[in-house]
Amino acid sequence: MHRRSFLAMGGAALMSPLALGQIESVSPRVPLRWKDGKKWVYSITYDEGPQELLNHAVPIHRKYGIPGHVALVSSQIGIPRNVPGSSYHGMMILNKEEIAGLAKEGWGFSCHSLTHCGVTDENAQDEVVKAKKVLEDAIAQPISIFTVPGTNDGHPPAMKVAAQAGYKAILTIYDRVNLQSSDLMSLGRVPLHTRYPGPFFSEYDPYKRIHQAIELGGWIVDYCHCPMPDKPIHEAKDCTTQELEERFQKIKEIGGDDVWLADPNQVVDWLVSNTENRKP
Ligand SMILES: [Zn+2]
Repeated sequence: MHRRSFLAMGGAALMSPLALGQIESVSPRVPLRWKDGKKWVYSITYDEGPQELLNHAVPIHRKYGIPGHVALVSSQIGIPRNVPGSSYHGMMILNKEEIAGLAKEGWGFSCHSLTHCGVTDENAQDEVVKAKKVLEDAIAQPISIFTVPGTNDGHPPAMKVAAQAGYKAILTIYDRVNLQSSDLMSLGRVPLHTRYPGPFFSEYDPYKRIHQAIELGGWIVDYCHCPMPDKPIHEAKDCTTQELEERFQKIKEIGGDDVWLADPNQVVDWLVSNTENRKP
């Protein structure tokens, strides 16, 4: 129980000053503040960038005033996605004009490799380095974040070339809350999925990691692909639009004025320019 809520319930009357002092001495450090004095940060990312986002996710973003972020495969802009075997194969991907429209609304973008084949030491020059330039040319926007495609197996090979390629950060699918001291080249993302694969089969949780982020002064980056009404495209890769809205309601209700709602590019840029907050 938080000390404040214990006191609010009259707990102080039951405790000696010594006991109170002991609690004080073990209370957690005060988390570092973020931009504009915010206490924690919330971002959400969508991998692949299906055009259906415009129908199903973007209206919910507008309603709650939360910016989004799309991780785009550089070779797949404005065409039906051509990655056989993927749940999203054949879905039309956002085109340059639609991407520019989202950018005007505060959305951000990152590179999700050149072909989504999985990054290895052998292909990293194409899938990570060349992919950045190809995407920048295709959408006419600067790109400074790499989002690892597929599994985290591509993370170590991507890390070896990302800084040299000009990326400031890498998004993975390690499920964790990021801190101001986190390695920008190893940022975690929280899966916002209807149900996890076995053996756990975790059910959707709209509160996931929110209280951890508040206590640690951390940064949640949710991730999914393309929420759809009533039934997810893939229960372990997506949530429904109803679940997405429930998540945003909880972020706003619990976060109030304390949460900074931001595209990951904004957060990375802020962290890079506030280096005094970062561990050496
Ligand atoms: Zn992907």
